[in-house]
Amino acid sequence: MTFDDFDLAPSVRRGVADAGYSTPTPVQAATLPLGLDGIDVVGVAQTGTGKTAAFVLPILDYLVKEPLPGTGPRPVRALVVTPTRELAIQVAEAARSYGRHTPLRVATVYGGVGKGTQRTALRNGSDIVVATPGRLLDFLSESEIDLSWVDILVLDEADRMFDMGFVKDVRRIVAAVPEKRQTMLFSATMPPPIQDLARSILYKPETVEVGERRDPAATVAQRAIHVAEAEKQDLLHHLIQAEDVDRMIVFSRTKYRADRIRKKLDRAGFSAIAIHSNRSQGQRQRALKGFESGEFQILVATDIAARGIDVPGVSHVVNFDAPTIPEDYIHRIGRTGRADATGDAITFVSAEETDHLRGIEKHTGRAIETMEVDGFDKPALAEALGTSTRSNPSGHRSRQKSGGRPKTSQPRRGKGGSGRR
Ligand code: AMP
Repeated sequence: MTFDDFDLAPSVRRGVADAGYSTPTPVQAATLPLGLDGIDVVGVAQTGTGKTAAFVLPILDYLVKEPLPGTGPRPVRALVVTPTRELAIQVAEAARSYGRHTPLRVATVYGGVGKGTQRTALRNGSDIVVATPGRLLDFLSESEIDLSWVDILVLDEADRMFDMGFVKDVRRIVAAVPEKRQTMLFSATMPPPIQDLARSILYKPETVEVGERRDPAATVAQRAIHVAEAEKQDLLHHLIQAEDVDRMIVFSRTKYRADRIRKKLDRAGFSAIAIHSNRSQGQRQRALKGFESGEFQILVATDIAARGIDVPGVSHVVNFDAPTIPEDYIHRIGRTGRADATGDAITFVSAEETDHLRGIEKHTGRAIETMEVDGFDKPALAEALGTSTRSNPSGHRSRQKSGGRPKTSQPRRGKGGSGRR
């Protein structure tokens, strides 16, 4: 299957070709026919599967094919809500990139920065808005944004929005967009509150499930190393030298630990940068750019700060602290092995963290290969690490279920039709 098999507007097809993609990923192959037909979709897909294009392309295609008549500032017709600003920025970048041959304008709306630029973009007219809930609600209450023209609503990483306490905000946003619309909800996991949300805001949705629901990206080789808490930093240094590291993300439990890990890496001569929510948006963006450009080989991050980071070529994810929440593990290791690439995820497990590891294994339903380590100069470690490969451990995931597509195409609710100006 190629992107030519979909009835994409030529300008959108060119944008995809420019991005260098010819074959859709499984989530794209399953979602695009539905999304392009205006059908509501629940996408159970992890980050790294190509899900962004799965909802961005139907948005672009619809807006190109169904332009509004008239001139003047264009109303917002597609709204994507994301849990974090980093993810909002990345989704917007994807929309601009795939939409580069279209006249469509994309605005981002997120907190932590001044409102001026975002307000101007909204006043000038944007077809697509990618927003985090808090700032979007601010603009709504200030009547700076009109959502009454929205035809397509996307909720991205819905489970994370729930974890971050945004569900009420999301419901308020949904109440501000027309009932007649297409809605797509993407989530790595589908806990009951997300199922409830989906049930109440989607209309006859088709569910697209890519891979095992809770199975971490199959392209990631997962290992755990039992190590004393006090030896973690040394182990990290050793690992960076022993492994074939292109780019590494190191996850720590707290902001304070992230800074400390980064400083020690620095002192040991590694090029590292930290990203966490104490940093200003500008600092975070600079850190990400520096990591992306290769200026820094290692990015030290906390869970929330790392959410939505999409840097190609991350060869290693190290969980300096084993995550206490199994979902975080899935999100963390999804930073490597994105789309077609393969990657390594290594979790450091201190004596106090063995329960966390068990929780992760129970949640994902698979055992993680473990090794014992005490003292890193021992040849045993070098040998153990030396045998690590980045060869694809288990191949690609396959599409499990795409739901039966109705034979007749259901018109997009909100498209043309009554009630719209
Ligand atoms: P996402 O899951 O949307 O965050 O995408 C993960 C990564 O896959 C991003 O770096 C995308 O640029 C990349 N990607 C998206 N679509 C494709 C495709 N059809 N083929 C290869 N890579 C892709």
